[in-house]
Amino acid sequence: MKILFVYPRFQRHAQAHPELLEFVPMNEYLGSPSLGLACIAAVTPPNWEIEFRDDRLTPADTPTDADLVALSFFTAAASRAFQLGDYFRAQGKPTVAGGIFPTAMPEDTQVHFDSVVVGEGDGVWPQLLRDAEAKSLKPRYDSIPCALDTLPLPKVSLYIDREGPGFSPDDYPVQLSRGCPLSCHSCILPVSMTKTLREYPLAQVIGQLDQLARKGKRACLTEDTSWLPGKGNRLLSALFDHLLATGQEAAVSYVGISMPMILATPLALLQKARRAGVDMFYLVGGFDPITMRAFNGQDPQALSRAHAAIAKCHEAGIDPYTSFLYGQDDDDEGTVDRMLEFAATSGIKKAEFAIFTPYPGTPSWKRLVAEDRILTRDWTLYNDANCVYRPAKLTPEQVTKGYLRLWREFYADKRHFLQESQEERTIQF
Ligand code: SF4
Repeated sequence: MKILFVYPRFQRHAQAHPELLEFVPMNEYLGSPSLGLACIAAVTPPNWEIEFRDDRLTPADTPTDADLVALSFFTAAASRAFQLGDYFRAQGKPTVAGGIFPTAMPEDTQVHFDSVVVGEGDGVWPQLLRDAEAKSLKPRYDSIPCALDTLPLPKVSLYIDREGPGFSPDDYPVQLSRGCPLSCHSCILPVSMTKTLREYPLAQVIGQLDQLARKGKRACLTEDTSWLPGKGNRLLSALFDHLLATGQEAAVSYVGISMPMILATPLALLQKARRAGVDMFYLVGGFDPITMRAFNGQDPQALSRAHAAIAKCHEAGIDPYTSFLYGQDDDDEGTVDRMLEFAATSGIKKAEFAIFTPYPGTPSWKRLVAEDRILTRDWTLYNDANCVYRPAKLTPEQVTKGYLRLWREFYADKRHFLQESQEERTIQF
């Protein structure tokens, strides 16, 4: 038996707005596919031969001799995934969809696929394959929460083996945990991975890092949940201890974090991160009570907490590559000036800018659907680079204009990046 795994393409910021390539003196970086398919490939029994297609690199809609075709995708890739589902079904191939979008919108997905996996797929995958072998695939498989200590390492070789011109990331994601007990308004993670934080055993995390190191790759720890006080940051701290004890200070490229997490984390742990080789945070914003209020001009306390968070990163010696989210209900045109001033006065060197997008499955999506403020269900536009809903104080056109101004003006005095090393001048946009 043979399975074809497909990662569908989606529109990136610079494809939606080519002028960004003029404004931003950085390299556009094509990162790793998300870990979903690598996790599913790892629990695929050896009697199944595996083929992988990354539709971002080569169009995936070409004939295949596979017995089953499985796609994993998030919202921005959903429209393309639907095309691919239709294509492979027309070729007579049984098709399966899983990932964030199918979990949030199973009924919409079902129209284009024979079978939809809702939630984490690892637990139901062996049964789904047995059903496929018996030609009795069910229309829907609901996730069975599985103990993370029973899972094999993600099969990242699936991605690394496809490297070549145009795709050669120096880092790949490593998971420390799944799930999150919080409910940030625009985050899907508690829905797609449950509201219980479940952490991997340290040995499994080290195993993920080691398999990357053997391929000459670094690990990026993308989830901000790594810093959740208690079992979250205990695991992270233990990982840093391991890196220090084994001299692997180059193993981690960056760690995801948020401003509340920075302020809640003891400085000593941030400093340990630095000693363990972490020199960059991916600082996500727009989800949390600090960044949702710091730039609306009405909450000086939130603004001063935002300054304190950046100052604490600098004190620990870690650069915060900061992501600003524009176009939420409290934002007005002055938000652009306030974000730019904040970035300049706090000493942020690298930043990215995104348009607030209510992703299906999130609390924001449910609220805006109920308020009839969703403007389009063209999922291609759900990529943080387009305004897809009606904001309270701005028109969608003003949001797009402000977003482009943020990119243009933040990078206007940073042409020196053109002379920097490849690593220094690389971001994803
Ligand atoms: S943004 Fe982070 S802290 Fe908030 S719900 Fe999502 S994973 Fe949890």
